[in-house]
Amino acid sequence: MIEISQGFGIGTWRAVRDSTSARITCPNCGFDAELDHEIAEDRTVNPSVECPANCGFHEHIRLMGWKVK
Ligand SMILES: [Zn+2]
Repeated sequence: MIEISQGFGIGTWRAVRDSTSARITCPNCGFDAELDHEIAEDRTVNPSVECPANCGFHEHIRLMGWKVK
């Protein structure tokens, strides 16, 4: 499990779609993509996140500061 901070740049997340979803920038390669995942009340993202650019990043992540609606 790794923790992803809100912000801009590599290894961060930001809210999209009226804060119902998030984009993350891959901590490994910097590829930016929207999550197609469930974000739980404890801010964990399910299932685990695999980088769409196939850089090898594949982790369970938690979005620090995510506000559950
Ligand atoms: Zn990547």
